[in-house]
Amino acid sequence: MAEKMKALTKKQLETLKNKLMEERDSLVFNEEKGAELDLALLNGGDDVEQSITDYNNSHQLRFRNREVFYAKKIEKALKKFDSNEFGLCTDCGCWIKFERLLARPTAEMCIICKEESERDESSSFIGRQSKSLGKVLDLTGMLA
Ligand SMILES: [Zn+2]
Repeated sequence: MAEKMKALTKKQLETLKNKLMEERDSLVFNEEKGAELDLALLNGGDDVEQSITDYNNSHQLRFRNREVFYAKKIEKALKKFDSNEFGLCTDCGCWIKFERLLARPTAEMCIICKEESERDESSSFIGRQSKSLGKVLDLTGMLA
């Protein structure tokens, strides 16, 4: 019934690996930029500005935590290249489509398993909602 997934070619794997490394580099760059901003905030600012600084710091911290989380996912994905596990669905073991990996190189599950797990997690109402919006949710839920 299910169409047999073809293994990713060497070239496709290379493309995805480069993409992951680029993503990682861009995250490192952002982190350095954030540190510079912290320094600027520490050097300037009086009591009046303190509340704004606090707000910015906490906001920034949340953002950075998300980046760290994503960076970990990238590292995990990159490690899979060494063990030849990259591109394989962690759930069913089939190959994840190249197009899906290109849009989301940290994906660990094929679209079928991912949709299934999202259906399980959702309440029945949201589950029904996301069925029709599945594609949109998948694209926006980069960190899910
Ligand atoms: Zn699967």
